[in-house]
Amino acid sequence: MQFISTRGQAPSVSFTEALLMGLEPDGGLAVPATIPTITANVLEDWRSLDYAALAAAVIGLFATDIPKADLRAIVSAAYGADRFPTPVVALKPLDGVVPGLTLVGLSEGPTMAFKDLAMQFLGQAIPYVLARDGKVLNILGATSGDTGSAAEHAFRGQEGVSVFMLSPVGRMSDVQRAQMYSLADPNIHNIAVDGVFDDCQALVKALSNDAAFKAEHSLGAVNSINIGRIVAQAVYYVWAWLRASDGVAAEERAPFHVDVVVPSGNFGNIYAGHLAKSMGLPIRRLILATNENNVLDDLFASGIYRPRSAAETLATSSPSMDISRASNLERFVWQLLGPEEFVSRWASLEETGSLDLTDRLRDMHEEFGFVSGTSTHKDRLASIARVHAEAGALIDPHTADGITVALRHMEQGYPTLVMETALAAKFAETVEEALGEAPEPPMFVRELLGKEQHVIEIPNSEDELRALIRRSALHRG
Ligand SMILES: *Cc1c(COP(=O)(O)O)cnc(C)c1O
Repeated sequence: MQFISTRGQAPSVSFTEALLMGLEPDGGLAVPATIPTITANVLEDWRSLDYAALAAAVIGLFATDIPKADLRAIVSAAYGADRFPTPVVALKPLDGVVPGLTLVGLSEGPTMAFKDLAMQFLGQAIPYVLARDGKVLNILGATSGDTGSAAEHAFRGQEGVSVFMLSPVGRMSDVQRAQMYSLADPNIHNIAVDGVFDDCQALVKALSNDAAFKAEHSLGAVNSINIGRIVAQAVYYVWAWLRASDGVAAEERAPFHVDVVVPSGNFGNIYAGHLAKSMGLPIRRLILATNENNVLDDLFASGIYRPRSAAETLATSSPSMDISRASNLERFVWQLLGPEEFVSRWASLEETGSLDLTDRLRDMHEEFGFVSGTSTHKDRLASIARVHAEAGALIDPHTADGITVALRHMEQGYPTLVMETALAAKFAETVEEALGEAPEPPMFVRELLGKEQHVIEIPNSEDELRALIRRSALHRG
């Protein structure tokens, strides 16, 4: 399997080459040159597999340059019992709210958010490729919470990799901060910048744009455009469909369609669902939920994509979705328009600041099954309270955005799966606001909050960051 660039100006690469790449050399994103198919028979063959074995099967369709035995070892380590409970991803019915509504438990990993599922795969696959090729990698990133902690927990203690993670001083939740700063592994460097998230991101960008510095210190990233993350995320769509259809009689399974609801920001998670659907997984609709930063809801409602600037992005109570330029959308638009038309129309987005796709709105709905909705702070609180009252379950604010939009769009006869993107304990403040009382934090969260923290504080200065990387980065040989 080869991967090509959406912009069409870069040579095609293998899976492991794409894995170590951020953007393609032409500025585009890697997409599979052909989409592998999953037939009904293949799905039935996969029904008896455990999560790691299913991951090897699905990822193996793309990662054809990793020998099968090696891939099995990678996924067994990534999804092992020391990192996830069995069965890694569990379905949690919410029949008390509406029959047929189910949460897909994607957040049982070490940092209580769905990003662990993809990042743990990278945490095994990337060191494997580095060792094979005799390389090292210094991962440089900026985080406002979930991505940074998932990356640190995935790469802690791994050979050939170190992580330099910038975070804005004093801006994360207590749990997010503790998840990152409590790590004492020598290859993890927590850097608190005296500034806001955008300052952290600007520092990362400045160093990444310095090609000489980047090459000298083997700097790289594991952000949401990484194709390895997308492919690893496609696995749980297949898993969720299999588990949802387990109890269904075999003869009714062939057209057993589900609707899937995805709380979205960078369009990475739902793009993985779209990829699984494109491969033949019987998903009827992909229902995209946004918070007040509803650029993507506008796109699927009107056909016009108009990204907003950081200054126009609101700080909401579902902060991991406070995104106004969805970095993975390019992959979907490339497929929607086809490679030739894509290049000229995407260029017009960069020139004019908006992209008119009204001529393809019907395709988005009818061929690709996209539907969308916006959830506000008030909706979020109401959904948290309703799920607690009617199903006795605690949900986090991002999942609550998914529930809000699911309840608006659900249709009888179609099981509706809502992706649970984080756990309530990670965002206790908003859960408390919704329920009027603070939920009892789980034991491991109390322990986590009590741990010693390790962080280097620096001013908002490129020179200080360069000096720190010169001192601490891994170098080859
Ligand atoms: C990252 C994140 C999202 C958004 O996912 P995308 O792949 O960026 O669309 C939603 N919820 C939580 C809790 C997240 O951490």
